Amino acid sequence: MLRFRSLASGSSGNATLIEAHDGLHPTRVLIDCGLGLRQLQAALAADGLSPTDLDGVFITHEHGDHIGCVAMLAARYRVPIWTSAGTAQSLKLPHDADAPVHHVGDGQVFAIRGLEFRPFTVPHDAREPLQLCCTDGNRAWGLMTDVGHVTAHALSNLAGVHALVLESNHDRTCWRGRPTPTFSSAAWPVSTDT
Ligand SMILES: [Zn+2]
Repeated sequence: MLRFRSLASGSSGNATLIEAHDGLHPTRVLIDCGLGLRQLQAALAADGLSPTDLDGVFITHEHGDHIGCVAMLAARYRVPIWTSAGTAQSLKLPHDADAPVHHVGDGQVFAIRGLEFRPFTVPHDAREPLQLCCTDGNRAWGLMTDVGHVTAHALSNLAGVHALVLESNHDRTCWRGRPTPTFSSAAWPVSTDT
């Protein structure tokens, strides 16, 4: 079973927990870590979890609302990190952090225990931003945050996913005064981000 929960979303912090259950040992991976450590601990505790239950964290890009307490996760809990080489340069991990940092790039498939991930590039004002899709072998899930527009490359990577988490910027000036389609406001809650 593949399931996910948004722990935080928007310019104040982004973090999504994805889990694969294949029997006795679930795989839990945090996608982005844009919270303070206490906030993250509280969000995980709501599910009876702690940072020690995480098998890894994937960081999409270096903006503060996506990296938050990742350095503390690495130093204190030794949670392994997967991210692009460009993003890794900006994480400023402490030298005594024992957690491994795995560099991945566009189209480079990697596995964290029971989950397989495929990152892909997106347009965003960051060094080397990646978004991703993942699968437990039965279901596929996609995540795309901080995108100003959808590229053909992103669409091809997300083709066939069974669920997609989408978060993007919106322009309040353009939005103001325009009629809002009822299906849009009802179905797609919008949040701002940087
Ligand atoms: Zn960003």
